[in-house]
Amino acid sequence: MANLLYFDNNATTAPAREVLDAMWPCFVEHYGNPSSLHGAGEDAAQAVAAARAALARLVGAGSPARLCFTSGATESNVTALRSALRSQRERRRVLASAVEHPAVLEPLAAARAEGFEVVTIGVDSDGRLDLAQLRAELDERAALVSVMAVNNETGVVHDLAAVAAEARSAGALLHVDAVQAAGKLAFSCEGLGADFVAFSAHKLHGPKGVGALYVRRGVELEPLLRGGPQEQERRGGTENVPGIVGFGKAATLAREWLESGGPQRLASLRDRLENELLRTIEGTHVHGRGAPRVCNTSNLRFDGISGEALVALASDDGLCVSTGAACSASRHRPSHVLLAMGLSPAEASSSVRLSLSRYTTEAEVERALEVLSNAVRRLRALLGAMPAPR
Ligand code: PLP
Repeated sequence: MANLLYFDNNATTAPAREVLDAMWPCFVEHYGNPSSLHGAGEDAAQAVAAARAALARLVGAGSPARLCFTSGATESNVTALRSALRSQRERRRVLASAVEHPAVLEPLAAARAEGFEVVTIGVDSDGRLDLAQLRAELDERAALVSVMAVNNETGVVHDLAAVAAEARSAGALLHVDAVQAAGKLAFSCEGLGADFVAFSAHKLHGPKGVGALYVRRGVELEPLLRGGPQEQERRGGTENVPGIVGFGKAATLAREWLESGGPQRLASLRDRLENELLRTIEGTHVHGRGAPRVCNTSNLRFDGISGEALVALASDDGLCVSTGAACSASRHRPSHVLLAMGLSPAEASSSVRLSLSRYTTEAEVERALEVLSNAVRRLRALLGAMPAPR
């Protein structure tokens, strides 16, 4: 896969070389158990503490102690949602955006089966949350509000300050899935005043299988995994030390990149990609373009073609793109995010997501443009499909 053109960084990112270098000694030298009382254990515990501090700086956790390491954002989300709802006796209503990741929607479907009323908050045609609906549905019945920071399919950035103010005024807890925000834009858990925030290492050039959950000071957390006193009794099980150390290194690198103006540079590369596609391929649309978007994501529709066929054809030429979230793409259903934005199932099925990374080069963008243009033309010729009039 030497010539791989990887434009699927919202599904996962390549671990940074520095991340791998930081992890290696944890396998071969500093392989102690952080709970052990001897020197090897102390070394491992120190490495975990340093990683926690690095992540706390990136995400504005206030104190590293507010962060609990997990196996990934799915576990972080499930832990937070389950714990938040179990802590409630009287309040039986949950409000969540229609465009949440399945790692939020599926635990909420389980909560519905347990008797919670789950209210879906819609989005407009650009993917912006309907704040008026949120306000109207929020009252003393609300236990929890769950809104993601950045949508994984469109890159749309939600107005979390407004969401947090609404949740606070109704006395509801606030859960934020910040997986696609961390390392791509300035983000502060403390600044926001969220109660729970979920993160994942493999979306920011860290390793897979490690995530974190921020829990606000004074907020109860019921562990999902019991079985040991690790992570201040919030998550049982021996820590994934190499993964955590890799996450810490990834957080440090991401912070340096953010501070050096990386997002602005990446957004202009993404914009060049979009503008060229809009200019050269008739019947191209960019979803969410009217809303604030994160720097690396582009969700596009090419009228008259199948997004899945485009993904397959592009892949033959070494270009990796996707039709949506990796886990939903394998289910062959039109994206629930695009449907919530008012697209028809046929329009949603003609869409693909391109997600760049801080390592994406201009030359790769040029090659991706070529592959995509050829693939769209070939598919249209094959299907005899005419682009819809503009
Ligand atoms: N939330 C969002 C918004 C995501 O994009 C993802 C990954 O696709 C997840 C949660 C799940 O993260 P993890 O793979 O760490 O479980």
